[in-house]
Amino acid sequence: MIKVCKFGGTSMADGNTMLRVKAIVEGDPARRYIVVSAPGKRYGGDEKVTDLLYAVHEEVAESGHVGERYERVRARFSGVARELGLSLDIEGILDETAKEIEAENTPDFVASRGEYLSARMMAALLGVPFVDARDVVKFDAEGRLDERTYPLLREALKGKRRAVVAGFYGEGADGKIRTFSRGGSDISGAVVARAAGADVYENWTDVSGFMACDPRIVENPVLIRSLSYKELRELSYMGANVLHSESIFPVREANIPIRIKNTFRPEDEGTLILPTSRYTFGGRTVTGIAGKKNFTVIFIEKSLMNAEVGFAYRVLALLVKHNITFEHMPSGIDTMSFVIDSSVLGHGVLEQLCEEIREEVHPGVLRVFDNISLIAVVGHGMSRAVGTASRIFRAIADAGVNVRMIDQGSSEINVIVGVDNENYERTLRAVYNEFFRE
Ligand code: ADP
Ligand code: ASP
Ligand code: MG
Repeated sequence: MIKVCKFGGTSMADGNTMLRVKAIVEGDPARRYIVVSAPGKRYGGDEKVTDLLYAVHEEVAESGHVGERYERVRARFSGVARELGLSLDIEGILDETAKEIEAENTPDFVASRGEYLSARMMAALLGVPFVDARDVVKFDAEGRLDERTYPLLREALKGKRRAVVAGFYGEGADGKIRTFSRGGSDISGAVVARAAGADVYENWTDVSGFMACDPRIVENPVLIRSLSYKELRELSYMGANVLHSESIFPVREANIPIRIKNTFRPEDEGTLILPTSRYTFGGRTVTGIAGKKNFTVIFIEKSLMNAEVGFAYRVLALLVKHNITFEHMPSGIDTMSFVIDSSVLGHGVLEQLCEEIREEVHPGVLRVFDNISLIAVVGHGMSRAVGTASRIFRAIADAGVNVRMIDQGSSEINVIVGVDNENYERTLRAVYNEFFRE
C-alpha cells in the first residue's frame, strides 16, 4: 500500500503544525511520499509566504536587491527551524536563496522558493531525502506538464522508503523554474501519486473534507462523504478551491482515489473522491454548490442567427483576435452569450470587441452585463430527479434575486446560474437551504 500525502499551507504554517504533519506521516507506514506547500497563514490576518514572495519579486525588480520583505520570509523559516531544533543550515540556505533571487528575479522562480524551503525543512524534520521538483517535474514549451515527468519522478523515488517533494513548481522547457497556477501544490501531489502508483492520494488541509458549499459563506455546511472526479472538477473549477481543479487529471488516468483529510482533526474520515465508474451517488439530488464572482456577459441576439452560415465562427474569431478566453457560451435559436472572466478583459478591450462584433455580424441586440457571479449546482443525481431546475429557480426567486443568465450546458451534472455580484452570497445560501437544510 502506498499513500502520497500533500500538506497545504496551513499544515506547514509553523513549528506546531509541522509536528502534526510529522505525527500523521509517521503514524502510517504507507505514507511514503510527501508533497508540501509553502507556509500559509498562522492566524487570521497573517501573510502567506507565497504572497510575500510575490512581493519580494516586486521589491527586487524595483531595487535590484532583496530587502525588508525578504527579511520577513527569512524570519518565518529561521524561526521555525530554531523552534524545531532542525539540523539544517537554514541561514546558509536562505542566504544562497537570496543570491539566486537577485540573479533570477522571475515571479515564478521567487514564488517557488516557498515550497523549496518548506520541503527542505520538512525533509529535515522527518529525516528523509528531499526531492527538488526542478529535477523531476518538467513542463513543455507550451507550459503543459511534460510526460517525461513520470519516469523522472519514478527514478527519483525508487528505493526511497520515504521522501519529501516540493509542490507548486517544476522546470520549464527553457531550463527556468515555472510554477503551476495558484494552489498548484494539489497538482504536484496528484502527479507524484500517479508516478508512485499510489493506492490513494491524501490531500491534507484545514477542513474535514469537501463541504456541500463554501463554509465561509454557509454556516456549517454538510460534509460530502464521497463525490466523483467529474463532480469535483465542476465544483472546484467553479470556486470550491479546497482542491485545485486540475488536480484530477494525473490521478484520473491511473484511477487513484483522492481523500481529503484535516491535519487538525486527523481522526475525521474526510471526503473520498472516486472515478465515476466506482462511484455511487447514493440517491441524493445535488452533491454540492459552488460559485465565483466577477464575470462579464456579452449577450447577442439576431433573428435567424441559426440560418446564417458562420455566425458563431465570426464572433469567435474576434475573441481569438483579442486573445480572450471564455468560460461558458449559452445559446438559443436566435441568441448567443459569452461569459468571460472580467479579469481577462484589459482596459478598453470590451468596448473595442463590442464595436467589432457590431461591424462584423450586425446583431439586432448586443448587450453587456458586468459584475455577474456564477453559481454552479452540481450532482450526478440531478439528471434523474424531475424538477431540480424549478427547485433551484424557485429558491432563488423566493430569496428576491433576479436570475441574469442560465446555462444548463451540455454537462448534465451541472446547472449554472448568473446573478448580480451583490446577490452572490444570498443566492448560494438560498440554493443550499433548498437542497440541504431539513
Ligand atoms: P490548503 O492551503 O491546505 O491547500 P486551501 O485554502 O487551498 O487549503 O483550501 C481549503 C479551504 O477551502 C478551506 O479552508 C475552506 O475555507 C475553503 N473552501 C471553499 N469551498 C469549500 C468547500 N466546498 N468545502 C470545504 N472547504 C472549502
Ligand atoms: N503556495 C502556492 C500558493 O499559495 C501553492 C499552493 O499552496 O498550493 O498558491
Ligand atoms: Mg490549496
